[in-house]
Amino acid sequence: MPTLPAPTAPQIPTHKRISSLKFGVFAPSDIQKLAELQCTTHLLHETTTPTTVPNGLLDARMGVSEKMAICETCGMTLQDCAGHFGYIQLALPVFHVGYLTTVIKILQQVCTTERRVRLHESDREEKAREGSKTIALNAFTDHPI
Ligand SMILES: [Zn+2]
Repeated sequence: MPTLPAPTAPQIPTHKRISSLKFGVFAPSDIQKLAELQCTTHLLHETTTPTTVPNGLLDARMGVSEKMAICETCGMTLQDCAGHFGYIQLALPVFHVGYLTTVIKILQQVCTTERRVRLHESDREEKAREGSKTIALNAFTDHPI
């Protein structure tokens, strides 16, 4: 009877190197997919009891804020539940205040008179040589506006 080779311990790397990180913003459809619920009311608690209002900003499906309460999504307590997302459907698009500075910097890089990205002439020539049809906007550029 043939014998099997002795099992060897799997090679587990002791460390991994992160080569890059990518940050982005969720699309509205992604936000809705990730959310546990849509918040449809600004109310926090019922008027006569301390219970939270369903689909309110403190809905227990997004996690709990009391030590002994149980999260309605994962069944864990405040200590173990990381929290869950809810979303609010807005009537009109709005700027996220956290991105406002970056959005302003990006918009300042576009000349509204010439309708093109503001670049130093040397950068413009380099992009033209590369045949670039699109130019990535750098919100943190040192170029004068
Ligand atoms: Zn939870």
